[in-house]
Amino acid sequence: MLIDQRRMLGAIEAGGTKFVAAIGSSHDHITAQVQIPTTTPDETLQRTIDWFRVEGGIEGLGLASFGPVDLDPASPTWGCIINTPKPGWSQTSIASRLGDALGCPVGLDTDVNAAAIGEHLHGAARGCDVAIYVTVGTGIGGGAVIGKDTVKGSRHPEMGHIMPRRHPQDTGFAGICPVHGDCLEGLASGPAIKARWGVSLSELAHDHVAHEIIAHYLAQLCQTQIALYCPQRILLGGGVMQTAGLLDKIKEQTTMRAGSYFGVDAGAIIMAPGLGTRSGIAGAFELAKRTVNVEH
Ligand code: ZN
Repeated sequence: MLIDQRRMLGAIEAGGTKFVAAIGSSHDHITAQVQIPTTTPDETLQRTIDWFRVEGGIEGLGLASFGPVDLDPASPTWGCIINTPKPGWSQTSIASRLGDALGCPVGLDTDVNAAAIGEHLHGAARGCDVAIYVTVGTGIGGGAVIGKDTVKGSRHPEMGHIMPRRHPQDTGFAGICPVHGDCLEGLASGPAIKARWGVSLSELAHDHVAHEIIAHYLAQLCQTQIALYCPQRILLGGGVMQTAGLLDKIKEQTTMRAGSYFGVDAGAIIMAPGLGTRSGIAGAFELAKRTVNVEH
């Protein structure tokens, strides 16, 4: 335990708009933290590397990355961003470049899988065998912890790209997902809300139908998760979820949809993340710890 306290670890939450980097012995012993805007890969990664070098050496790095990203340790492209619409980032070998430059092992997972780990260990999903973390913001993504590990199979979950049933008052909008059009992300992400109504959900009057429509779609994701995985927690975070009253609407609609069939109280399973916006960085510290323990 004393050894753990002395280890300096690095944690990065690599997002599409910003990188949050932190150094410390754990998520609640952070000695320095910085935000770096996500621009080009070269610029963003170099600024991140330079920051860690100035702050001092780290024994291991936990990287919670936006995706899609290759998580297969046996793959020659492990740690590479795969075919992202974000300009310049496709095929960027993000994990290896950071690990090589900083001279330490890298524990890698998706940003949302890492957030699920953070919540499972330190937040609102403590003690749960199955926990789901979903972010609803610029995009919609979800991660899952089952047992102690995150779900990673042929790739990683893409929960934002399920195809929900349309709300009867939302038939004229094609959706904004470049691949699927009206998948969940295409209908209920922050940009999809702005494309329909011109402003964010929180800027619309509380009795505007948009609130019911967005809750209708997100409740379908929750119902689907309950049907697939029987989670004890579904944690909904991200910018859109800061809208007053949205979480309660999703709970109500999920409870209505699930009925008594699943034998669970759907409304009690769905919550806000216990760590607020810190779930991802907490998970990244755990990834760093795990990779250092594997090395030793
Ligand atoms: Zn899609």
